[in-house]
Amino acid sequence: MGVAAEAVKMARELGATVAGFVPAKSLKNSPSARSAGPPGFRAGTGSIMVLGLYHDPEHPEMDWWEEGASTPGDRMLQQIAEALRKWLKEVHRIDARVLPYQVHDGGIYLKDAAVMAGLGFIGRNNLVIVPGSGASIRFRALWVDLEVPKPRAGRRPAFCEECPAPCQTKCPMHAFVDGRYHRAECLKRIDVNKKTATGERRPLDHCRVCELVCPSGRDG
Ligand code: SF4
Ligand code: SF4
Repeated sequence: MGVAAEAVKMARELGATVAGFVPAKSLKNSPSARSAGPPGFRAGTGSIMVLGLYHDPEHPEMDWWEEGASTPGDRMLQQIAEALRKWLKEVHRIDARVLPYQVHDGGIYLKDAAVMAGLGFIGRNNLVIVPGSGASIRFRALWVDLEVPKPRAGRRPAFCEECPAPCQTKCPMHAFVDGRYHRAECLKRIDVNKKTATGERRPLDHCRVCELVCPSGRDG
């Protein structure tokens, strides 16, 4: 078994739902990089290891965001990523670096990376849909000093094209008014959530409508 396959196996043992690799240099021309500008982290060598963690809708608290502390689910992903970084160094003498979540903090476009690593596809809800987890999955990534071949990227299946798209019609902010995702409208909902939480001393529970109504991918 090669190091990349071994690392994927180790990631799953550590608790990740899915994991995969993509050459770091290929992210330079990812769809988001082309439309929104270069990612915060760029490397011409090595690879990006993407980790996905299923966020069970039965446990919404995994997604509750706290100022300065991210979410419980994201903290689990960070712990898995850090354990992998140490394992790569100690067992294989390979350098790795856990990347920040936000692009503007030096991160990457995680959804692009997940699709390019072959973990899933972008649904009409603008989320990555992963077989077995649907859209209820969150991602983190590490840069790894390991060259890997480019995997086959996930492609949207006919199922999604033929679906009546409740992800779009049920959006409370009409963020898909013309069938395309409009980030500004979705972000307004986040602002509403923040204002609602002000003074209540509770973590933020963001809108997940376009994720939770999606039937795709949940049964593997
Ligand atoms: S709800 Fe339907 S159209 Fe929307 S992402 Fe899911 S499968 Fe695709
Ligand atoms: S998260 Fe909510 S507001 Fe944003 S696009 Fe999805 S359904 Fe609309």
